[in-house]
Amino acid sequence: MSTTWHVLGAGSLGTLWATRLARAAVPVRLILRDTARLQAYETAGGLTLVEHGEAQHYPVPAETPDSIEPINRLLIACKAYDAEKAVAQVASRLAPGAELILLQNGLGSQDAVAAQVPQARCIYASSTEGAFRDGDWRVVFAGHGFTWLGDVGHPVAPIWLEDLSAAGIPHEWSTDILTRLWRKLALNCAINPLTVLHDCRNGGLQEHHCEVATLCGELTELLERCGQPAAAENLQQEVERVIHATAANYSSMHQDVNNRRRTEISYLLGYACKASDRHKLNLPHLNQLQQRLVTHLKRLGLPSD
Ligand code: NAP
Repeated sequence: MSTTWHVLGAGSLGTLWATRLARAAVPVRLILRDTARLQAYETAGGLTLVEHGEAQHYPVPAETPDSIEPINRLLIACKAYDAEKAVAQVASRLAPGAELILLQNGLGSQDAVAAQVPQARCIYASSTEGAFRDGDWRVVFAGHGFTWLGDVGHPVAPIWLEDLSAAGIPHEWSTDILTRLWRKLALNCAINPLTVLHDCRNGGLQEHHCEVATLCGELTELLERCGQPAAAENLQQEVERVIHATAANYSSMHQDVNNRRRTEISYLLGYACKASDRHKLNLPHLNQLQQRLVTHLKRLGLPSD
């Protein structure tokens, strides 16, 4: 019998992982916020994944954080700003040698979680898969993609990657996961805040070419100073390619703001600005961008952290 996957957070990515693992007969259990959420889930009778327009139902078992079963493998599928608090609720259940897989976007939350559970192995992930909730316990698989996983302290791949292969989750073990996370963060900083401030799709940034180019220059300087030269390579070219290839899409930050949801700004642009301060870099456009975004979020009555 293979090890049970506990999935902390049954939102978009949590559901996408839990349902695919369950359908491959890999043992999986959801950990929901509290008894009220557990009752709502039990009334719904399971998770629904909509793939290629077809809905499939998966009665994945669920529990609350205070259940007593030990946890050996934990997928953290909440937002970056919820990760630390959510892990604290289950930390006492982690078995010796437990492994955590962290799906959060940006940087900062992974290190915070890892510091909280020094006894566990923390595996960082970076995913280009896309999913969104179109109802409670119901998720649409919107964009097929890829997930890179890696461990900054231990380069050897875990054996359970075979569960992901069985579940049809496209993935690769990465020995430079931090480079991937930094690169993704830089792309996000160059694109997402501007799409919010200009209220446009990604393609709308083609009209703000100079602004994007200036930001890419500053982000390149930041990545190099942070010891991430590979993440800095041809950054502007890659940003322009992404803007072109995803011209019709709204960025995740634009969608969050449009739906009046909290953004992950502190783990993206906020993290970049803090790193620049730490290295005493003068990156005026990046700092201005953060101030403009914070002012904009406050004006809309949304959290700015
Ligand atoms: P999401 O749909 O908002 O799901 C987050 C889930 O975490 C929610 O179901 C929430 O519960 C749950 N949660 C929060 N605190 C909890 C706690 N203390 N205990 C138990 N559950 C808790 O978020 P998402 O879109 O899946 O994003 C997760 C992370 O993946 C983010 O960092 C995001 O940037 C990244 N990511 C997402 C995508 C995507 O396409 N969605 C792609 C790449 C990366 P409630 O349901 O009770 O609110």
